[in-house]
Amino acid sequence: MPNPTHAAIDGAFHKCRRCGDIKPARCFAPSAFRRRVPMCRECIRLDMRVRYDANKAKADAIKLGRGCADCGYRTAATALEFDHLPGTAKVREVSHLYGNCAWTAVAAEIAKCEVVCANCHKIRSDKRGAGRAYWVKWRAEQEAGAVALDGPGELPLLLPPRHGHGRPAPVKD
Ligand SMILES: [Zn+2]
Ligand SMILES: [Zn+2]
Repeated sequence: MPNPTHAAIDGAFHKCRRCGDIKPARCFAPSAFRRRVPMCRECIRLDMRVRYDANKAKADAIKLGRGCADCGYRTAATALEFDHLPGTAKVREVSHLYGNCAWTAVAAEIAKCEVVCANCHKIRSDKRGAGRAYWVKWRAEQEAGAVALDGPGELPLLLPPRHGHGRPAPVKD
């Protein structure tokens, strides 16, 4: 029950519509009162946890189902990542949506991605850093089955110079 001393400090008490507890204002985020059902910070945190776990379980099942688009790896979901394809409008990293978004939003983001393992993701990022023209060429060759060099754990022998952060400027082609 509200304690008059705390009430004097916090100014007000509120009832959490989820757990039913009457708590001082500091137990609620200011934004909580804009919700249809005001919930205390603790209940919002628990809600996020549940949503995060449920979304992650579905996303992990997709990762393992597809496997790495480049090398076929599909042993551990934690080593598989969603790679936003160039040209898609990325909202956020897929995993950053797990706690805050409904599955439909997570699935919409996944639709813009291919699943790749951490190794292949690193290699892809390296190739994109080398410039869009190089990336498009590499993708076309890869899809044509012409690139045998880029298997797992195998780095290309020669990458064009990269730019930014002290790296050399890109080569125009
Ligand atoms: Zn609560
Ligand atoms: Zn891979």
